[in-house]
Amino acid sequence: MTDAHKAMLWEALDGQKVRCDLCGHRCEIVAGKYGICRVRRNEAGVLRSHSYGSVVAVNVDPIEKKPLFHFLPGTTSLSVAAAGCNFQCEFCQNWQISQAPRTGLAVGGQAVSPEQIVSAAKAQGCASISYTYTEPTIFFELAYEASRLARGQGILNCFVSNGYMTPRAVQTIAPYLDAINVDLKAFRDETYRRVMKAGLQGVLDCLKALVEAKVWVEVTTLVVPDMNDSPEELRGIAEFIAKELGTFVPWHVTRFHGDYKMSRKAGTPLETLQMAGKIGVEAGLKYVYCGNVTGLVDENTYCPACRELLIERWGFSVRKMNLTGGKCPKCGEAIQGVWSPQ
Ligand code: SF4
Repeated sequence: MTDAHKAMLWEALDGQKVRCDLCGHRCEIVAGKYGICRVRRNEAGVLRSHSYGSVVAVNVDPIEKKPLFHFLPGTTSLSVAAAGCNFQCEFCQNWQISQAPRTGLAVGGQAVSPEQIVSAAKAQGCASISYTYTEPTIFFELAYEASRLARGQGILNCFVSNGYMTPRAVQTIAPYLDAINVDLKAFRDETYRRVMKAGLQGVLDCLKALVEAKVWVEVTTLVVPDMNDSPEELRGIAEFIAKELGTFVPWHVTRFHGDYKMSRKAGTPLETLQMAGKIGVEAGLKYVYCGNVTGLVDENTYCPACRELLIERWGFSVRKMNLTGGKCPKCGEAIQGVWSPQ
């Protein structure tokens, strides 16, 4: 953590109280206290971010790792994270850094400016910057400033997010945000409140606002045994995506493995992932991806009209690209996505 930086998206209330309008928690915070994320703090009536300018992870990743499959396939993305999260998911795979401000775990951090992030992306030949691993909403000011600078240099920007931004936060970042992968972790509010310590409706509203703002959206559901793996719940998620976001929005169903407070839980059976994939197809989704599962659905992209193989993937690498100007070369069907940095 570094010196506090004045936060964006909040308002002053009576008696030095503030209300943060960055995420769906909309914390009302009295002077001297933090919000739920434990990153933003009311200091004498001014909300400040304590994660600004300090990153806890920087890596060059294939964009497929986010996962973003319809966004500049085969390119690399500079991935950056600052400590903190507004959720407390019991199965978090990055809990050491996402929950650090809450648990007090020392994670260090490297001082870095938005300019340095953009320069590093350029030096590494990355087509984009991904704000990821923890929750980018919680390091919004750093992501916002780096995104603005990156755009000016022809580098695109992606969030990998739990999708709990307020409509105001979406509108603020949307002009600079090119793509986002949002985790839709369940379709029951009770599960969100118990396991994630947040609410479902805020995520659904954020997803709709992102699509409306014309940010390229892909959705991921980590299928956790006994939490969200019933056919009814998976169908609820798939039908929400198809009806409220669009059948062109890719849905990634991914395999859970034990971590954090669910470290003793068994992984997702492959049959369950295949069932989820089948449900996605039945709901009308054109692009459903299951990691490491052969059968009805897999990690390749096929033309939804004629089933021509368009993008062949192996792990996080692209083996073959078979698109002509964003269209199927066989039947001419337009394939939605961001296929070039223009
Ligand atoms: S970002 Fe969310 S959790 Fe953090 S202070 Fe603001 S409203 Fe609260």
